Parts: sequence; structure tokens; C-alpha cells
Amino acid sequence: MCGIFGIVAAGKCDNLNILAANGLASLQHRGTESSGLVGSDGVTRDHVEIIKGHGLVRDVITEDNISKMDGQSIIIGHNRYSTAGKKKSGINCVQPFVVYTAMGTVAIAHNGELVDAKQKRTEVLHEGVGLSTDTDSELIAQMIAKAIALNVKCKYGQDIGDITRELAVTMSALNMSYSLLVMTFDRLYAIRDPFGNRPLCVGTVISKDGSPQAYIASSESCALPANAKLDFEVRPGEIVELSADGIKSVWQMKPNTPLAMCIFEYVYFARNDSEIEGQQVQTVREECGKTMALEDDIEADIVGNVPDSSLSAAIGYASQSGITYEPVLHRNSYVGRSFIQPNDEMRQNAIKIKFGVLKKKVQNQRIVLVDDSIVRGNTMRTLVKMLRDAGAKEVHLRIASPPVKFPCFMGINIPTSQELIAAQKSIPEICEYVGADSVRYLSVDGLVSSVQKGIERTTNFSPGHCTACLTGKYPVPINI
Ligand code: SF4
Repeated sequence: MCGIFGIVAAGKCDNLNILAANGLASLQHRGTESSGLVGSDGVTRDHVEIIKGHGLVRDVITEDNISKMDGQSIIIGHNRYSTAGKKKSGINCVQPFVVYTAMGTVAIAHNGELVDAKQKRTEVLHEGVGLSTDTDSELIAQMIAKAIALNVKCKYGQDIGDITRELAVTMSALNMSYSLLVMTFDRLYAIRDPFGNRPLCVGTVISKDGSPQAYIASSESCALPANAKLDFEVRPGEIVELSADGIKSVWQMKPNTPLAMCIFEYVYFARNDSEIEGQQVQTVREECGKTMALEDDIEADIVGNVPDSSLSAAIGYASQSGITYEPVLHRNSYVGRSFIQPNDEMRQNAIKIKFGVLKKKVQNQRIVLVDDSIVRGNTMRTLVKMLRDAGAKEVHLRIASPPVKFPCFMGINIPTSQELIAAQKSIPEICEYVGADSVRYLSVDGLVSSVQKGIERTTNFSPGHCTACLTGKYPVPINI
């Protein structure tokens, strides 16, 4: 999972660089390893401005360097969460990637992971193209550069950065998964793979007089500024062009695959205030909580949650079951990354620094404790013990997603089967391990119906979601 953001000035737009930095900061939850911005002034074919670095957006894009983007009319940005490519590698792995092609500079920002990256890499290397990183995103950049070179005759005398045809050729040669932003000197393309695996939307920033100020493409709608409207979500297999003249769909791949939007965008990744497939993510999470309550029959006094992301599911569970919601844990938001702890006692202490129990709320209570997922089980084990030590009578753990048992090859780092508690233990064994009175997960059917309920109401295309990490059924054959 990564965050991609691009913006094009509709005319004169003095604060394009600030809008770009703010947009990227709003997508921080999608990647925290590195950030980058690449800008074009809209007229110079062979020059871009670049700001890149490791760390959070606020550390990489600063008051000192943001002025580098002054005068740019198109800017694209990327927050990295590495799945392909070395995590700690040098600045050359930080996106957006810039390649110098036969028609000028092209920059790309990629969210997703190519399932056949190994094979594609071999192909590209055997064509004599040298690669400077081990990332699949650079492969895509090189494939676009090659498509441009093969079509270069058509480009002579053409004074615009239109590469729609070359992008369509590249898409036809790519497998899933990708949402892409591709910038030439005078335009920006927003592209989604035919499975629609990762989200991507476009919007318009409106100036005070009501005219368009800028056009935006973003992984999520939460990154649109307050004075912007969400225009639409890029369709699976579509290329959308954003330029000073506006937003237009320029190519649509013939649909030949069932859709496979990542269902975990709803469960965990996307921000609550984003809209995906026409529905608010928060509403879907609440729906998951309601469905979980419908599948459950436990008697309890209160519903609580592990803060923060499972709050919506807990509210949904409470409203459906009629059991009162009460906050039971406080999360310390000032604790950063926890260090690897050498023993159980130290590990428990680290979790206790992160969470505090609201004792008065939990004493003598039978608690339904909602979380959105359980990976290794260590944190949950400590939290259950903390609730019991604080006087909870019973703790019934409810997970608002089905057990994660299989790896993801489409852009999400899921721990290995050896580390995944659901892949190693049965539900009674998990219950015993975490010390709960009972454990229940939302069913796969329950998750899919909660996610698809709102889509059927709001749009008229047939929804489809990837559930491979839950079911082992991958949208495409995987050759590891
Ligand atoms: S395997 Fe899981 S995390 Fe990966 S794309 Fe599919 S649903 Fe999303």
C-alpha cells in the first residue's frame, strides 16, 4: 500500500506546491517510509524539480525546500510503504520515479505491486534495459519509456506530452496490481489496473469565483482540500487525463476480468472519511460491526474497542446488538515505533505504554472487545490481561474481519504464515492464547455483503473484491 497524489493547475495557481504537500500529508496513513514530490513547469520537456527523502511528509517536505516547487504547474507525489524493493535502500527507491524518454521527462508514482514482477524484470533486463533499483515501479517506468521510444516517429513535430497510446500499450502488457500517476511535461494521467485493485479518484479544486483552480488525482478522496469536489473514481482499466484544460477519460481497457478491489482497503487501510466505490469507508466499517452482531449471540454489558481504527465497527456492533458502547481503552498517540523487546515482560510494558485501561468503565463488566484484525496476537493477549487486571468480569473478543491466513502479492505486507496466529491456531486455541472468554471473527460472506451492500445501492456496475488473504483464492495465478 502506498499513497499517490497529483495536481495540475487549471490556470494561474500560486499555492499548487502547498496543495500538493498537504494532499500527500493527508495520505500519510498509506505509507510512512519515504515521500517525494516531482514538479513540471508545464513547458520544459526535459526538466523537473524533485524533493525526495526518507521519513514522514513533514520531515521530507519542509518550509525550506517547498519553494523548489514554486512556479510548477503539475506536481505528483508519493508516500512509500515498501512491498517490492529493499526497505532501507537508498534514495533511488523513493518515488516518484523520473525517467528521461524519447519525448521528454516522464515521472511516475505507483500504488500496488506487480504479481509477475520477477518475470517482467527478467524480460526488461534481457531487452538491454539497465535497472537502478529492485522495485517493480521502476519496471513500469521503463516499460512506458520503451513504449514511447517505439512510437517516437509519431512524436516528432508534436508539441504536446500526450502519451495515451503508449500508456495503453504498457497497460496491456502489465498484470495486476497498479494504480498509477504518470506525469509528462504538460499533463498528468491517472490509471487503474483492470481489476481495480487499488483505489484512485479525481477531483476539482474550486476557486472563490466558482471557476476551477486545479485538478487532482489521489489514492483517496480524504486528500482533497476543503474547497474541492470529488468528481469521480477512475474506473478499472481506465486512463484519465488531467491538464490545464480539465479532466477527461482518454482510454478504457475492454473489461475482460472480474473486479478485484482489495477488500482490506475497507477493513483497515483507507481513511474513514474517504469515499471508495461511492460509499464512505466509515459507513462500511459500521456495517461490518452490525453484521458481526447479527452473526453473534453473546450476552454482555458493554461493547468496547481497541482504539482507534475499530471504533466504527464497535459502534455498528453496539447499535445492532443493543448493548451500550463504552470506551474501555485509551491509546497514547505520542508513542512512536516500539523497539523490539527482548522478553515477555518488556513486550507487555511496551504495550502498556501504548494503551491505558479506563478502570471505572470495565470493573465487573462483561465486555465485547472489538478490533479490526488480529495478526500475531501478542498485543491482544496483553490487552485482555490488562482488562481483567482492571476488574473486567468477562472479555469476549470480536474481530471485524475474517481470519487472515494467506500472504498478499498485490501490495500489502502480510506477515508470513508462521507469524499469522490465524494460520497457526484454531479459534479455540487463539481464545486460549489471548486469554479471552470467547473469540469470534466476522465471516467472509458477512464482510463481502457489508462491503457490497452500499455499492449496489449507489452505482450500477457489478462489484467484485479480492479476498485472497482470507480465502487463498487469488484473482490471478500466482507464480512465486
Ligand atoms: S490479498 Fe488481501 S490485502 Fe492483498 S489485495 Fe487481496 S484482499 Fe487486499
